[in-house]
Amino acid sequence: MLPGQYIGGEPGAVIKEKDSVKGRFCYAFPDVYTIGMSNYGLQLLYHLMNSRSDWACERVFTPYPDMEAGLRQYNVPLYSLETHSPLNEFDVIGFSLQYELCFTNVLTMLDLGRIPLHCRDRSLSDPLIIAGGPSAVNPEPMADFIDLFVIGDGEESLPAVCNAWLEEKHQGRQSGGNRYEVLTALARRFPFVAVPQCYTVDYDSSGRALTPKPAADGVPETVRPAIIDDIGKYEPPTQRIVPLVECVQDRVAVEIMRGCPGRCKFCVSTVQKRPIRCRKPEDIVRIAYDSCLATGSNEVSLLSLSTSDYPHFDELMTLLKEKLLPLNVTVSVPSLRVNHQLSSVMKQLTTERTSGLTLAPEAALDEMRQRIGKPVTNENLIAGCESAFANGFNRVKMYFLCGLPEETNADLDGIIELSYEIWQLGKKIRGKAPTVIANVSNFVPKPHTPWERIGMASQYYFLTAHDHLKTRVRRSGVALKYHSLETSWLEALLCRGDRRVGKIIERAWQLGARLDTWTDYFRGDYWEQAVLESAIDVNPIIHAAVPAEAELPWGYVRF
Ligand code: SF4
Repeated sequence: MLPGQYIGGEPGAVIKEKDSVKGRFCYAFPDVYTIGMSNYGLQLLYHLMNSRSDWACERVFTPYPDMEAGLRQYNVPLYSLETHSPLNEFDVIGFSLQYELCFTNVLTMLDLGRIPLHCRDRSLSDPLIIAGGPSAVNPEPMADFIDLFVIGDGEESLPAVCNAWLEEKHQGRQSGGNRYEVLTALARRFPFVAVPQCYTVDYDSSGRALTPKPAADGVPETVRPAIIDDIGKYEPPTQRIVPLVECVQDRVAVEIMRGCPGRCKFCVSTVQKRPIRCRKPEDIVRIAYDSCLATGSNEVSLLSLSTSDYPHFDELMTLLKEKLLPLNVTVSVPSLRVNHQLSSVMKQLTTERTSGLTLAPEAALDEMRQRIGKPVTNENLIAGCESAFANGFNRVKMYFLCGLPEETNADLDGIIELSYEIWQLGKKIRGKAPTVIANVSNFVPKPHTPWERIGMASQYYFLTAHDHLKTRVRRSGVALKYHSLETSWLEALLCRGDRRVGKIIERAWQLGARLDTWTDYFRGDYWEQAVLESAIDVNPIIHAAVPAEAELPWGYVRF
């Protein structure tokens, strides 16, 4: 499938002679190339590592099952795209954990790259296996496989850890030390790294995992995130890598702001990305303009958790239009928060190719939104959609959550009623039926959020709620989409799990679980079997509320 994704050689790829650098880092994206190459963090960290004269950064992605079978059949190790080097030749492999359902992909890549799956089986000759990203905030489920988790911003912490690994490894070899001692030295040295092997886990009388405790002197009890003070100091490359095959997103992305002023109780992103830091409008425009000239791209995407909260939005859009419209480049904004600014933002975004607006009201009734800490009003939402339809948009996609605490049928009915009201509004303004999609996700209480101690609603509740929505949506003109219950359940297990869950991940992978985020490949039966064989009662991990005084498996990471 898509052979172009396995060969490298794209414009913008950086190839350095192996002997010209002191260290080699491989950025490992645990999903397929077309997803990974759309990731902003990959382009940024690849560029930052390669801009150092002493390090080379290469890339590797999860192969599709046909390629995995080919590699195994011909006894070829998984290799990097730049120099086609086997993974076990690198000094450091860094996995970007964007979502929990990619965990089995990490195992596939380690195994194909000829690196021992378990941390305990690696020696000082093996690469350091590190991980960062949104799903690294609870290290425990992947503790058997990842040596070290980097918590927080990667711009400064990643090169610091890479350099320290080479230094400590060198010293460890000279003094006859082993890998565990070198990892312990790293755990002592950096407050933002979590080395699970340096922590031991106990269980209470009910079998619940307690917060891991340091197993060696000097290892900190808590890990705190790395935070850079100014995102403007670290610019994405203007000559980013241009893929040879079509990717999910093929545009120039510029992060305009990190952090979100919102405090939604279910949201882990706002916790992870604090505090708010903004890039200057003139820097954004320069990066966007130079990137379009360098890559030929005709779309610029402004990234942040909540672009409509960027304090210089009007100034930015005026400058961008001046520079980019003559190049026939359009500007897209993937994350708009519904607030009083939304309708004016819609006016600013008018371009000939603008066609879709994506919003995340999360709940349909103002009262529920107050409860979840998202003070969005339907008045703002409808005003924003009105402005969008009047300015050429014909498609509105809205994300809602189902299974929120104290949710009632009125909240579910509200999803359909609000979506239908927006559909009618679009029809009236545009003179023809717009596309309105209500996308309903199943609420998973995530670690580190104010709702981390709430249990996920039962499978029975979700089935009943989905049925209720299905009945209501008939003949409304609104398209209703749900997230699969099976994958939401698994997501909850993998994000809330303790160290024992690693056995389930490994067994599911042995049974054949691959590319779990892809509906074409997902095999719930493998996971079911893995859970049964593990004899671990996973229901308390997923569904039970955790008392306020009880310890949490992810409690040693503190935001
Ligand atoms: S507005 Fe969005 S990013 Fe901000 S806290 Fe709420 S859900 Fe999170």
